[in-house]
Amino acid sequence: MTIDNYNFKNKKAIVRVDFNVPLDENGNITDDTRIRGALPTLKKILADDGSLIIMSHMGKPKGKINPKMSLKQIVPAVAKALGTDVEFAPDAADASEAAAALKPGQVLLLENLRFHPEEEGKPVGIDKADPAYEAAKKEMKEKQKEFAKKLASYADVYVNDAFGTAHRKHASTAVVADYFDADNKMLGYLMEKEVTAVDNILSNIKRPFTAIMGGSKVSTKIGIIENLMDKVDNLILCGGMTYTFAKAKGGNVGNSICETDKLDLALDIMRKAQEKGVNLVLGTDCVAADDFSNDANTKVCSVMDIPEGWEGLDAGPETRKLFADTIRGSKTILWNGPAGVFEFDNFTAGSRAIADAIVEATANGAFSLVGGGDSVACVNKFGLADKVSYVSTGGGALLEAIEGKVLPGIAAIKG
Ligand code: AMP
Repeated sequence: MTIDNYNFKNKKAIVRVDFNVPLDENGNITDDTRIRGALPTLKKILADDGSLIIMSHMGKPKGKINPKMSLKQIVPAVAKALGTDVEFAPDAADASEAAAALKPGQVLLLENLRFHPEEEGKPVGIDKADPAYEAAKKEMKEKQKEFAKKLASYADVYVNDAFGTAHRKHASTAVVADYFDADNKMLGYLMEKEVTAVDNILSNIKRPFTAIMGGSKVSTKIGIIENLMDKVDNLILCGGMTYTFAKAKGGNVGNSICETDKLDLALDIMRKAQEKGVNLVLGTDCVAADDFSNDANTKVCSVMDIPEGWEGLDAGPETRKLFADTIRGSKTILWNGPAGVFEFDNFTAGSRAIADAIVEATANGAFSLVGGGDSVACVNKFGLADKVSYVSTGGGALLEAIEGKVLPGIAAIKG
């Protein structure tokens, strides 16, 4: 079933969205991209004269109630975005009455699903090494099914529009779908758009295809890096990873972030790239700082020769040119992860050079996909989000989809 073909008139729809929006210390939303992203789906249901039960997680409360992560804080913003009142159910597992009372056009927002450990389905307060862990896990999986069944009982139809959590097999993202037949479960518009963007990258690759992977560590990106080596022509590895590679090649990286237990892995990646004929592009120079702060003293130096007490926090000018030249000549571009500590204004130049080159390539006909919280924050910070082909709401989900993994949230609906 597709959302376009479904008539929600007089139906109660439970919709999983990703309203995990960033809040400031006063609980004000600092970026409402995720709320805006879900609006087409939510508005379609209301326009059809259906009623809406919206569910989401916020943050990582680890199965416990935490007022700082309460979705109650965002009720006014959701009401404003939808242009209608929004009721709030303070316990996602105890909302039967509120859901039953909904009339067509009315909206109910459930409290943070992750206040219940059943949402993630992982046992809490027990270590993986504990002999009782397996039994606790099994018990929790049963409780997860009960929780999912409860959520399903509120509605006639289930819509999943939360791409950001589609790689998780949680109660609200996957298990709940088991309680709806194929005609009454579907992906939302945002989810459909994300799936199409990934399909575009994977099935319709115009070459050269350049992937830019940044961020802090090699270890968290290794799966996608290895997988991308079978697909891309150019692989730019930047950000904190740079220094693990430099060290593996025998360089001195000073205080730079460096995974000393991943040096063999770095050498292995370099060898594999050569075997597969992938142009692996690594930074040659960096902007080093004498402190991890925006106001630190800086100097440009080779990534192979960073003085003691200094750390590479951004790509240097030679590297920025190298990255930009590679990107400008590309026809398909995937960017995940910043090239420096972009949160500090003085260390954004590397990420900015990448973003500018992507914008230029896109204007010249390339398809560009930017995904992952930090790279999206970069393009937003630079005001360039509307100048790339597609900005994904997914980080981990996007990378797993590009790795070719079947996302549980999508499989639960499409089979
Ligand atoms: P990740 O969560 O692995 O995607 O990494 C994102 C983080 O990497 C951002 O918060 C950046 O500040 C950080 N990062 C990027 N480059 C560096 C660097 N050279 N040193 C330390 N952290 C970095």
